[in-house]
Amino acid sequence: MGGLFLRTYREYDLEDVQKHLLIMGDLTADCASCRNLGLDAGSVKNCPQCGTNFKYLTSRRLDQHPGERFQLVQRMREKRPDLIFIDYSDYMKSIGQKKARDFFG
Ligand SMILES: [Zn+2]
Repeated sequence: MGGLFLRTYREYDLEDVQKHLLIMGDLTADCASCRNLGLDAGSVKNCPQCGTNFKYLTSRRLDQHPGERFQLVQRMREKRPDLIFIDYSDYMKSIGQKKARDFFG
């Protein structure tokens, strides 16, 4: 029996998220920390290039296919109950703000 997915708001440490985030594309995933490409989002535990352990997961498809959002989250939740699924646009927005702060501050 599947539960219901509701988006919630929690406070995260952006640097921690960035360091341990796996970003899914259409077929493969990337490491947000070192940008290593071609990882298997369904199984990878550590980045083979930089060695970081993944704690968070997001997907570019959330924005590209908003209608599939909850199916995607549910599928990934079944495959990767060990990872916290975060919203891609929230993450990108925060990264953009951080870059602007680092640049102008
Ligand atoms: Zn990496």
